[in-house]
Amino acid sequence: MKKIIALALVVIFSLFALVACNGTEDVSDAENADTTVDTSADVVETPTLKMATNAAFPPYEYKEGEAFVGIDVEIATAIAAELGCTLEIVDMEFDSIITSVKQNETDFGMAGMTVTDERKEEVDFTLSYATGVQSVIVGANSEIASIDDLAGKKIGVQLGTTGDIYASGDYGEENVTKYGKGADAVIALKGGDVDAVIIDNEPAKAFVAENEGLKILDTEYAVEDYAIAVNKGNTELLNKINTALEKLTADGTIDGIIAKYIKAE
Ligand code: GLN
Repeated sequence: MKKIIALALVVIFSLFALVACNGTEDVSDAENADTTVDTSADVVETPTLKMATNAAFPPYEYKEGEAFVGIDVEIATAIAAELGCTLEIVDMEFDSIITSVKQNETDFGMAGMTVTDERKEEVDFTLSYATGVQSVIVGANSEIASIDDLAGKKIGVQLGTTGDIYASGDYGEENVTKYGKGADAVIALKGGDVDAVIIDNEPAKAFVAENEGLKILDTEYAVEDYAIAVNKGNTELLNKINTALEKLTADGTIDGIIAKYIKAE
């Protein structure tokens, strides 16, 4: 009888975790639990919301020492608090984020991720919380003065990003070199392996500030909306995140976080 009650409690609290956080809280603990063991340690834990990201994309997500920081990290932390959850960040290649969300390894993807029609076939997107612009970085003395000059040039991008998708479509796959990280594309530009890098404007500014001899072209390549990706059909989590985003927008939290990382020019 004691065993049954213990098991029932584990199941109830696991379900509570699922509902409270609506995440991928794993109920297999309940199935596997040794029911003679005191499980109270498990049930008092705050449920976890797992965020898939690529922490090499300043100022949205990057690492300071071992800590994850940035706009997305802070907004996600605020959303998790609204949902009564603890945020856990799972760092991976940008190109793996959608797969991770689709396979329920993580609850949502947040990585300065642009809403596109192709991605909408794979995942559901929340309301947009920021705008991004695809920018072009070139060497300070480059002959490339506008997007029109990119034809036939070697372009570096980050694999699987909109910069990759647009550049491959507009200038041909054969002219596009794809790197796992934006920073690696910038290193290739400095080393002369590519003539230009197409990447989101805020990371572009951060990379140009860190590296001498580079500049950003005045022309904007594309203007985009950033949003959070959740697994298709997970409307409960989608609605909860949207409600949190609306609240955090209305009370100025999101503007405050963005202003902390992006100084007005
Ligand atoms: N905004 C771009 C995209 O969604 C790049 C995002 C990133 O590299 N983190 O493809």
